[in-house]
Amino acid sequence: LATKNTNIRPDMQRVLPGRIMNILTKAGEVADKLNYQVYAVGGLVRDVLLKVENFDVDLVVEGNGILMANQLAAVLGGRVRTHEKFGTAEIIFPDGYWVDVVTARVEYYEYPAALPQVEQSSLRHDLYRRDFTINAMAVALNPGRFGELVDYFNGREDLQIGAIRVLHNLSFVEDPTRILRAIRFEQRYDMAIEPQTMRLIKEAVREKVIARLSTERMWGELKSILEEADPEHMLDRMSELGVWDYLFPEITFWEVQPVISEMPQALMILRNWGWAEPAEKWLPYFLAILHWTTQDTAYQICQRYNLGRRQTDKVLDTIAHWREALRRLSAPEDVPLSALNKIVQTLPREAYPLFLTLLEDKNAIRRFRLVMESVHKHKPTVNGKDIRDMGFKPGPLYRRALDSVWQARLDGLVQTREEELAYVRAYLEKHNAPKIEPNPPQPQR
Ligand code: ATP
Repeated sequence: LATKNTNIRPDMQRVLPGRIMNILTKAGEVADKLNYQVYAVGGLVRDVLLKVENFDVDLVVEGNGILMANQLAAVLGGRVRTHEKFGTAEIIFPDGYWVDVVTARVEYYEYPAALPQVEQSSLRHDLYRRDFTINAMAVALNPGRFGELVDYFNGREDLQIGAIRVLHNLSFVEDPTRILRAIRFEQRYDMAIEPQTMRLIKEAVREKVIARLSTERMWGELKSILEEADPEHMLDRMSELGVWDYLFPEITFWEVQPVISEMPQALMILRNWGWAEPAEKWLPYFLAILHWTTQDTAYQICQRYNLGRRQTDKVLDTIAHWREALRRLSAPEDVPLSALNKIVQTLPREAYPLFLTLLEDKNAIRRFRLVMESVHKHKPTVNGKDIRDMGFKPGPLYRRALDSVWQARLDGLVQTREEELAYVRAYLEKHNAPKIEPNPPQPQR
C-alpha cells in the first residue's frame, strides 16, 4: 500500500489560479511551523489531474485542525468558524470564499473490510472514509514535499481508465447518497461505474437502502445533479438504475424525459436571446420534471424536499399557467407585444427553458423570441429610486408603475428616458399615489 512518489506541482501550477496556489503554499508553511503535515484532498486533486479548474480547497491536517485554521486565517486575512466537536473549521474570506480544514484522526471503530492491523496514518483513515478512489487522493503541501501525490487506492489509475470505484463493499450501505454521486461523477467526466461497484449499487437499490436516507440529504445530492452542466444523462441513469422511483415516485420518468432531453438546447437558445441564468440553477430542470403533475402532487413534492415558499410558488405558477400560455402564444391572431409579454409573464423566468421545449408551433416560437429579445432590449431605465426622487411614498404602486412603463416601452409608446419619467409620474398621479410627507417640524425644547 505504499504511495507512489509522484509530484504534481507542475499540474497544480498550470491548473490552479494564483489565489489558490497561494493558499496552499501558505497552508504548508503554517503546518511546518506547527510540526504538522497538511494535505489538500478530494475534488481539487482529482480535477488537477484531469486538468479541470476547481476552486474548492479541502485541507486535511495531521495535527490540531482548529489551531491550524486559526493560524492560517491570521496569515491569509480571513475569519474562522469552528466546530470543536468534529475538529473542523472553515476559513472565511471577506469576499465570501471559504476553505475547509479538517483534523485527520484515527478512527477507533472497526472497518468492515477487515484491514490488516498495521499502523496507518491518520490521513489514510480520512481518505478511506471517502466515496470513490478518484476522490480519495491527497497532495502534500508542506514545503519539503509540496506537490507530492498521496494515492493509497489507485485513484490516479482509475482516473486514467475512467473508472468510478468505491473503496469497500459496504460503501453504499454506509451512505446511500454515494449512489447518486457515482452517477454524477460518471456522467460528468464521461467515465464508467466499474463492474463490481455497479453490482454493489444494484444490490443496494434492491435492498432499498435509499429509502433510509433523510430527504434532506437526498435533496442535497439531487440538487447537485440538477445544477450540473448536463443533468440529462444523469437523470437517465437514475431511471435506469431504479433510483428515480425513490426520488420522484409520483412521476413517470419516461413522461418527462423528452422535455428533459431538450433542455440543454433550450437553455443555450435562451442565453442567446438575452435570458440570464437564474441564481437557483437547479430550478429550470426541477420545473421540467414537475410540469406534468398536478398542483397537489407538485405541492407534496415541494413540501417533501422542504422548498421555500417562493420556490414552491414558482413551481405551482408554472403548472397553473404553462398550458394556457402555450395556447395563447400559438393562437393565430395578431397580438401586440405588450400582450404577448403579459402572457409570458404568467410564468416565472426559471420556467422559460421548459416553456421553449414545449413550443412546437413556429409562429409561437417566433413570438416567444420576440418577447425575450424585446424585454431585454426595452428594459426601462427608470427604477424605484427615480420614483422616490419624484417624492412618491414607497408602496405597491411602484411595482405597477414600473410594469406599466415596461409595457409602454414594448409597444413603442415611450422611448427616451425623459418620456419614461414623465410616463411614470403621470401613472402615479393618475392612481393617487401618496407623496412622501415633508419632515415634521422638530419639537422645540
Ligand atoms: P464537486 O466538483 O462536485 O464539488 P467534489 O468531489 O469536490 O465534487 P464535494 O461534495 O464538494 O464534491 O465533496 C468533497 C470531497 O468530500 C469529495 O471529493 C469526497 O472525497 C468527499 N465526499 C463528499 N461526499 C461524500 C460522501 N457522501 N461519502 C464519502 N465521501 C464524500
